[in-house]
Amino acid sequence: MHKIIFWDWTGTLADEAQLDDAVCRSLEEDIARKRGLSFEEAVRMYKDFLKTVENTWEWHDYVGHGHNFGVDWRHSQEINLDKLRLIPHALEILTYASSKGYQNVLVTNAVRKVIELRIKHAGLIDAFRAIIASSDVKALKAEGKHFTHGLSHCDGHTGQSFSVGDNPVQDIQPAKNLGLRAIYCNLGKNLTHYHSPHISDNHSQKIDADFRIRNLREIKNII
Ligand SMILES: [Mg+2]
Repeated sequence: MHKIIFWDWTGTLADEAQLDDAVCRSLEEDIARKRGLSFEEAVRMYKDFLKTVENTWEWHDYVGHGHNFGVDWRHSQEINLDKLRLIPHALEILTYASSKGYQNVLVTNAVRKVIELRIKHAGLIDAFRAIIASSDVKALKAEGKHFTHGLSHCDGHTGQSFSVGDNPVQDIQPAKNLGLRAIYCNLGKNLTHYHSPHISDNHSQKIDADFRIRNLREIKNII
């Protein structure tokens, strides 16, 4: 059996606040053009649509959003990828974990097509043994399916594995429920974009983590 570290992406390894902000604006511009609306009308239409999928994995599904409005989801991602920022020491800590015998598994509420674009752009595709996206398990991480799927797919040893993330509801609680140890990163509180008030809510919930860190390098003292 293998020791696994389940890594959250947004707000833990990557700062996507600027990127997601820009992606939403690009989508809204494309919706306006496609439908002959003003930009403000398109913004309202997109926000109204997002309300209908709030608290589901489809809220994160830019591919589905593009299909819903008949616009090219990939265009709005690709023209903005230069706004993706890695959190300091992200590659260093992934490499360190690997050297200590851990399998790095990325677990994300993003959908596979989008996260793969972003991970490739960041040059980190080879850093992960596996990526588990919300579109793979048709669930939010809060439901625990990302972790159970990862443990069985990678033959993981629950008691020797960790979840690392910045969101108590999505990263910490479901991991604790399954018997994983949880490392809470207090780096990401303001790293969500303007369409994500319900995700920001998650950040204010009670935190039942085994460890708390403010810098990714501190993980070296834990694993
Ligand atoms: Mg996060």
